[in-house]
Amino acid sequence: MKTKEIVQSKIPDPRNQDAKIKAQKVILGFKKELVEFFVRLRILRIVFRHFQNPVKVLKILKTLDSNRRKISGPGRVNKFIKINGRYFWNLYIPGSNSLAFDRFFEAEINRISPIPGKTNRFSNIFIAFTKKCPLKCEHCFEWDVINKKEKLGLNDIQMIIKKFQLKGVAQFQITGGEPMLRVDDIVEMIQSSHKGTDFWVLTSGFNLTYANAQKLKQAGLTGVVISLDHFDPESHNLFRGFKKSYQWVEEAVRNSIASSLVTALSICVTKTFVSESNLMRYAELAKKLGVSFVQILEPKALGHYSGKDVQLAPEQEKILEEFYLKMNFDKRFRDFPIITYHGYYQRRVGCFGAGNRHLYIDTDGDLHPCPFCFSKTGNALDGSLDDSIAELQAKGCHSFNDSNIR
Ligand code: SF4
Repeated sequence: MKTKEIVQSKIPDPRNQDAKIKAQKVILGFKKELVEFFVRLRILRIVFRHFQNPVKVLKILKTLDSNRRKISGPGRVNKFIKINGRYFWNLYIPGSNSLAFDRFFEAEINRISPIPGKTNRFSNIFIAFTKKCPLKCEHCFEWDVINKKEKLGLNDIQMIIKKFQLKGVAQFQITGGEPMLRVDDIVEMIQSSHKGTDFWVLTSGFNLTYANAQKLKQAGLTGVVISLDHFDPESHNLFRGFKKSYQWVEEAVRNSIASSLVTALSICVTKTFVSESNLMRYAELAKKLGVSFVQILEPKALGHYSGKDVQLAPEQEKILEEFYLKMNFDKRFRDFPIITYHGYYQRRVGCFGAGNRHLYIDTDGDLHPCPFCFSKTGNALDGSLDDSIAELQAKGCHSFNDSNIR
């Protein structure tokens, strides 16, 4: 098989137009087979570390593989993104060759067959860093608290992060409001946290200057998810309620890639947007911008959308599912960004939120099932965290069944 390594983006250092930067790469062909072999070998080693019976080991590996197909789709992983010696193929799985990767898989193995000793309790935690935001997005789920008085200081957030790290978390997704308004606090928080957890920032692109992207990278940030809700600049600006927001996205993507941060776009697909041709135009733009991932979110009737008829129709969900499968498993689209679509697995295997594998901590430190499903259940700073998590799990997800993948 032909070795192919596509340079996904060659964006120069914005401070020096002649400077060469480390490009994000899509690994395909023979090299992809080789990477996949070593990733599987690493997982095999993790299983062997805890189980020596070959029959049991085989059973665990088969279950892991079957779970992957149930969650991500029927095909094999057909590309990897290489950044800083780590290989990524899923936005919510830490890249290989890292402690976060090992701990993520230990936790998944533990769900199949209990491992003696401690494993991660969560794959990821969404934590809102601030209520402040300069935008007025059509779909904002934090709309009711935006720009109200802050409650959590840096010390509070550091305490919450430590509490959850003690329980074991593979990834933290830092959200808001606009988290980049507290960039220095994010840097300090990451620097003071324990190793073995990846940190991501979810942003509108605001304030993701080259200097800030560099600061975050040096602190240990893994990646950035930048919201872009339309391929057309004016439509995006209208959706976000700010005339410069498309420009921020372009600059943020450039600065993030130039700083070797894993870079993703996130789109909230509205009823008026969903069509095969619009999705393809968006994917073409994402490829041109050089991002590694595109995340598809479905609109939910909460926050700014509260009381509105925004839920997609089943035929629109079908268009999204077909697009998701085509882009990730059809060889013709191998050099496009990898698509993440939560609706695909949620409708098949249930939801991983509500404390199953993830949960959401809002700007007051209150716990919720996920960022799109609000139901305050205890507080991360007050009372017993274990009791609050147990209550959250008992309540479950409001929109989907709880995950049937233990
Ligand atoms: S969705 Fe995010 S960027 Fe938009 S207004 Fe809400 S907090 Fe701000």
